[in-house]
Amino acid sequence: MNGVANISLAAESRQGRISFIDLVAQQRRIRPAVERRLQAVLDHGKYIAGPEIEELEEMLSARTGAAGAIACASGTAALIIPLFALDVKQGDAVFIPSFTYNATANAVLVTGATPVFVDIDPATFNIDSGDLKAKIAEVRASGELNPRCVIPVDMFGSPADYAAIATIASDEGLSVLSDGAQSFGGVLNNRIVGNLAPATSTSFFPGKALGAYGDAGAVFTQDVRDIEEWMSIRWHGTDNERKTSVRVGFNGRMDTFQAAVLLEKLKIFDDELAVRRQIAQTYDSRFAGFARPQRHLPGAQSGCAYYSMCVDDRDAVVAQAKKMGVPTAIYYTTPLHKMPAFAEFAPEGGLPATDAVSGEIFALPMHPYLTPDQVDYICDVVEAAAS
Ligand SMILES: *Cc1c(COP(=O)(O)O)cnc(C)c1O
Repeated sequence: MNGVANISLAAESRQGRISFIDLVAQQRRIRPAVERRLQAVLDHGKYIAGPEIEELEEMLSARTGAAGAIACASGTAALIIPLFALDVKQGDAVFIPSFTYNATANAVLVTGATPVFVDIDPATFNIDSGDLKAKIAEVRASGELNPRCVIPVDMFGSPADYAAIATIASDEGLSVLSDGAQSFGGVLNNRIVGNLAPATSTSFFPGKALGAYGDAGAVFTQDVRDIEEWMSIRWHGTDNERKTSVRVGFNGRMDTFQAAVLLEKLKIFDDELAVRRQIAQTYDSRFAGFARPQRHLPGAQSGCAYYSMCVDDRDAVVAQAKKMGVPTAIYYTTPLHKMPAFAEFAPEGGLPATDAVSGEIFALPMHPYLTPDQVDYICDVVEAAAS
């Protein structure tokens, strides 16, 4: 998800001002506590590696069940750190969906490796296991690249099919790095995002379900042995004294102020998530008759960062919704294989499901401060526009 513009999307309706994402109402709720936290940082002055960083990391690993959580500068940094640790490099193929935010591809390209775009399942909007197998076979047949890693993306918060992906990865000798930038709070078969894959990156960009007041992210591991190396990569590849570089790294750290904000936001996260899920359920039941809401795997619960669905006449529905004061957004009108920066990696046969979904999908307001009346109104407007 990009652009602060999306966060401030809002429109006037007969139900009052409807925001696409409402960070104002949330701030009103936690402002005194956040101010106390920020003041504590001003008082101790440890702007980098302050005690809030470790406190946050402990809370993140405890709530996800991951063996470790490492606070990062951004979701993108959180993707690059495990890729560096895996020594993914030039000549390697990394399999990613094209239907994702550009950061997934950029993280791969920063390592020197080549992104190989895989199609999505048109119902879940997540990477298609069948096409993943096909793309791995193509790479092997051409012999130019070494298949190394797959990065499933949990689109809009809904966990990808990690069981199927783990089987393919183990058969093919690939590593699995989950791009959970949108799925913090998601669950699959009673396991929480952060503990669904050997490595999971998430983003705390302000507009994500758990957002900082600036850039931030985290990377989770299922193996305690990763922690020291990943922390080193986050700090220019230095040793424990942080003086000598023992490997290549970069500045991938989260700053203390962001951790302070996130600690307060985490306290209300479960409460907010419950409301998000309720809204998603209402949307699902109201839209299933005439639209194609995102489907989730059996045993999956979305983190509900965003709510997206496909309709036949998307542009008309979006225009009508806007007229009625219902803000919408489109993730993504242009899949990565059609963007200038990544077009050279477009697969020859195209990506039919990705292309079809890009033309039909749009996202509705999703945040825990929508009133029941507003949700009802949004449903009425979309239903009228789409029928
Ligand atoms: C937001 C996002 C990222 C990048 O996160 P930043 O914190 O903005 O670096 C990566 N992947 C996906 C799928 C995202 O939505």
